[in-house]
Amino acid sequence: MAVNFKQCPVCDAPIRVLWPTVAVWRCTNCKLLMRNPQPTEQELGNLYDGSWTAPEENSRETGGTNSYLAGHYAAQLLHSLRLPSFAGLTILDFGAGRGATAAALASLGARVVAVEPFGYAYLQQRGISVFQQLADIPQGTRFDGIVSIDVIEHLPTPVETIGQLGPYLSDNGWLFLATPNVAGISCRVKRAAWKEVRNPGHLYLFSPQNLELLLSKAGYSRPRRLRWYIQYSANPAHRALHTVLQSFVVDGEPYYLAYKS
Ligand SMILES: [Zn+2]
Repeated sequence: MAVNFKQCPVCDAPIRVLWPTVAVWRCTNCKLLMRNPQPTEQELGNLYDGSWTAPEENSRETGGTNSYLAGHYAAQLLHSLRLPSFAGLTILDFGAGRGATAAALASLGARVVAVEPFGYAYLQQRGISVFQQLADIPQGTRFDGIVSIDVIEHLPTPVETIGQLGPYLSDNGWLFLATPNVAGISCRVKRAAWKEVRNPGHLYLFSPQNLELLLSKAGYSRPRRLRWYIQYSANPAHRALHTVLQSFVVDGEPYYLAYKS
């Protein structure tokens, strides 16, 4: 049965249809965007199982973070955490996709454990320590940090799932999240035609305010939006434009760090 929302699953306020052609609704209070009705579990399973038969060609579903971007993310994360390296830290990559971030973190010294429900076998073949589900991680395991890049928008119950990560963090443990930004220029200009809105696996789309509300509801404190300058493209014009968007924090991808409450 497809879930059909009558109210916002995060703040319980009424919702209104925003872009009917792509079945996207918006909360009248917190402005969260949600697909409504949501795809069924079977539809999502078909989407991802089909994609993982050719993971490199279907990076929209199997993980858009390539090794170039992952290297930037890992280096910037070190800088934001004010650490010289990840040596001695154990990090969970939740929703690890094709493993680029896990490999980048490991190359900077981290011991990385991945959770990846659909690409589990692929990551195992790459020699990454991986579990299919969070619940498969041995009891009592604690991580110094958890990264989850472009995952939260795919989760059927994001507050609950992000909340379930908390008990796996050590006392001063941190959570790093990245997700497409509905307050960014691309969404504001392209609206229902924006590629992140059209992606059928994106069940929710967040603004920075939505993310802060979600992190607080999921039991995290001190959320901090990180000001990173990431170059996504080799094209000089694209790079210049993107630097401007990032400097006005209206780029397509907010990065957040929060801590276990
Ligand atoms: Zn809401």
